[in-house]
Amino acid sequence: MTNRRDFFKQAFAVVGAGAIVQLFTKSNAWAALKPVMKDAQCKAQAAGLGYVDNLAQALKQKKIQKSQVANWKPLDQKCVNCMFYGKSDNSCQILPGCAVNPNGSCNSWTGKQS
Ligand code: SF4
Repeated sequence: MTNRRDFFKQAFAVVGAGAIVQLFTKSNAWAALKPVMKDAQCKAQAAGLGYVDNLAQALKQKKIQKSQVANWKPLDQKCVNCMFYGKSDNSCQILPGCAVNPNGSCNSWTGKQS
């Protein structure tokens, strides 16, 4: 039979282990994302979308075309304003496993709903 002290020891051990597993899982998920321009597979997938790592620079160099969309100026059509962008880890739903540049963009850009 366990006494109250043993019960709390076991309860803290379980809660502590769960928290460590959760932290480890989150950090692994973050680490698993590869920056688009530094990973050959991500780079190839992104090229298919016409991805550029810096929208302002790409517009100046005419590497990407953007026109005014509803309330969005061409310069504002960055990943950071895209509905597929994940702010916490720079993820992109269209490029799974890859981390995009918040200042980047591509031909699939879709403005976030306000
Ligand atoms: S879909 Fe959106 S977040 Fe993904 S690369 Fe294109 S502009 Fe960036």
